[in-house]
Amino acid sequence: MRSVSFDESLFTRYGGRGPRYTSYPTALQFDESFNESTYQHIAQQSNISGRPLSLYVHIPFCKSLCYYCGCNKIVTRNERRVERYVDCLHEEIRMQSTLFDRERKVTQLHFGGGTPTYLDDHQITRLMQALSNAFPFEDSDAREFSIEIDPRSTHDESMEILAQLGFNRVSLGVQDFNTDVQIAVNRIQSANDVARLMEDARRFGYRSMSFDLIYGLPYQSVSSFDSTLDQVIAMRPDRLAVYNYAHLPERFKGQRMIRDEHLPSASTKIEILRHSIEKLIDAGYVYIGMDHFALPDDDLALARENGTLQRNFQGYSTHGGSDLVSLGVSAISHIGSSFAQNALTTADYEERINAGHLPVRKGMVVDQDDLLRADVIHEIMCHDSLDFDTFSASHGIAFTDYFSNELERLEPLADDGLIQLDDESIDITDKGRLLLRSVAMVFDRHLNQDTSRFSKAI
Ligand code: SF4
Repeated sequence: MRSVSFDESLFTRYGGRGPRYTSYPTALQFDESFNESTYQHIAQQSNISGRPLSLYVHIPFCKSLCYYCGCNKIVTRNERRVERYVDCLHEEIRMQSTLFDRERKVTQLHFGGGTPTYLDDHQITRLMQALSNAFPFEDSDAREFSIEIDPRSTHDESMEILAQLGFNRVSLGVQDFNTDVQIAVNRIQSANDVARLMEDARRFGYRSMSFDLIYGLPYQSVSSFDSTLDQVIAMRPDRLAVYNYAHLPERFKGQRMIRDEHLPSASTKIEILRHSIEKLIDAGYVYIGMDHFALPDDDLALARENGTLQRNFQGYSTHGGSDLVSLGVSAISHIGSSFAQNALTTADYEERINAGHLPVRKGMVVDQDDLLRADVIHEIMCHDSLDFDTFSASHGIAFTDYFSNELERLEPLADDGLIQLDDESIDITDKGRLLLRSVAMVFDRHLNQDTSRFSKAI
């Protein structure tokens, strides 16, 4: 297994803002010339491929606001509003299902949010029944059905019901177990509740449990985060993400509840990150890439080892080669070489559905040049290496001619030790692995000077 090394001197130059490349091009390139009929045509054409399907269902609601949150969510206790949205989801499932052949099995499914477990067991059961009627589910163990669960609103019975419905992976927002931090970010959940859900998950046969942690939150220190890591490691989640908190109160209103003076300094944040990486690797976790870690026998670590790792809207993944059909407000589908995004507000989403239309509002058909760039970025983000001859042969180009400008722009990164660059390949070094985005950004032809909409790498 490859390692990762920490070189703080590179962070100022390369740790800045940039896309996470869960897609390339990013959603900023979508436009409204791509509409419902474009999507319908592309979806129907995709049946010729017979590719399996991946489904994403977006539940945007949360019961309370976590102050650090930068997600597109709706904080509400209005059950009527939620029911209205779920009714529209059912209608969208019905409309979308008319576009895809029933031979195309669903091998991957994800419920994300917001908070999917805002919905009660009955609502989730009805949605899963509707989905499996509309899009036949793959029946083998290889399928990956995951849901984000909120430890504050998920009961033991719900864990059993979700398992019976076919979910085999759960992901939990843990963030930090320290009480002062939890109070400061308005997300209070005990380590005991999380441990109990982990036991449930094992008892009910879930294949993989994943935790999200965040560093850079108010009142965090190296030693406070170390205690959180001790508790997390004791629970042994299969996958872990350690995200950098981006404090952008001018963009996210909730973050104005977090006082600047309570945030850890930049140097403390870097120390927390360094300590987290070292501690997780010492505890037996494999560094996957960007902010992700996994146990060596987890599918993600195995996929990294055998070169089949993928990247999709949920981050790193093991399933490639499927068409992604996404349902719900702001959800993004990825069919063949096109992206389609649904209406960005629930009002617009519901209005479109109630008028009998698919809620597609924008998207793009990716051209040949961007398809090549997407594959280059995929190699960098998932495999840490790109062999020019292999890429040239599989894509029908002469890599070094086609990307001569980019190769020139990579030279300073090679001089700084992020990559090794020669006539045959680009190879990410151990100290470049934390800064993959900077390498990928060289191949992004849409990136302009303004990267303020993106998160920081470090
Ligand atoms: S962090 Fe999750 S639960 Fe909290 S407000 Fe954001 S989407 Fe909702």
